[in-house]
Amino acid sequence: MLEIIKAASAALCQPLLRAAGNFSLNMVYPRTCLGCGLLIEAQSSGQAMELWLCTYCRAQLNPIEPPFCDCCGEPFSGKMDSSFLCPNCQGRQLAFDYAISAYKAEGPLRELIHGFKYNRDLALRGVLTDAIALAFQEPRLKSENLSDWLLVPVPLHWSRQLYRGFNQSWELCRQLSKQAGIPAKALLRRSRRTPRQVRLSRNQRLENMRGVFAPSHGHWLSQHINPQKHWPNVLLIDDVLTTGATAHECARVLRAHFGVQKVVVITAARA
Ligand SMILES: [Zn+2]
Ligand SMILES: [Zn+2]
Repeated sequence: MLEIIKAASAALCQPLLRAAGNFSLNMVYPRTCLGCGLLIEAQSSGQAMELWLCTYCRAQLNPIEPPFCDCCGEPFSGKMDSSFLCPNCQGRQLAFDYAISAYKAEGPLRELIHGFKYNRDLALRGVLTDAIALAFQEPRLKSENLSDWLLVPVPLHWSRQLYRGFNQSWELCRQLSKQAGIPAKALLRRSRRTPRQVRLSRNQRLENMRGVFAPSHGHWLSQHINPQKHWPNVLLIDDVLTTGATAHECARVLRAHFGVQKVVVITAARA
């Protein structure tokens, strides 16, 4: 009898305590929308993005849905029954297997990325990691067993990282690693600075990025300590994918120097 009363009181009390906890948390730290700054109603829970963005801002997000290019993930507006390659990827051998971006780089997501990178608002890494989580629902990636995969960030040149105070890709990797239990390792370094690529064509960007990345110094040290340790598959993480030239060059070095066999590029947004 006592057991039944205990079980019944636990079943009743736990949701109440949880609700009270959420309520008090919202009283102490009222959540504001990271997109527009308005207060988010206290009962917001469940979907991760609901904790960060208000209803209005969430409606402005544009998730990338099929059809999109099988290689670079460029979305295509129209109907397409079979898999396809966009004109940029046709006849081109890119070093990564495929790229998936969660959202189009517009609206509130673009502002969040801007705030994260250029206003150095490190607190935004949580919402951007939750944005990236959507890319993991892509059927090809969902069918993978991610237990022997490694998260690798796109590196910044040391001088840019010193100026910004952090590497946004590494921060996203660390957060994803905590949430998904996939190890993260900064295997690459950027050996020279690259000029801004905004006005360059895709071919010019590919040329511009050639030889920019190299194995990080830390890797050689760990290889001597533990030469057997290697990862066959890498999830290359970045905030935005534009033409894929940076991801291509990173993937090329990962294959050439680390024996990586599969590289999938995951970004929060697609420019
Ligand atoms: Zn909002
Ligand atoms: Zn493509």
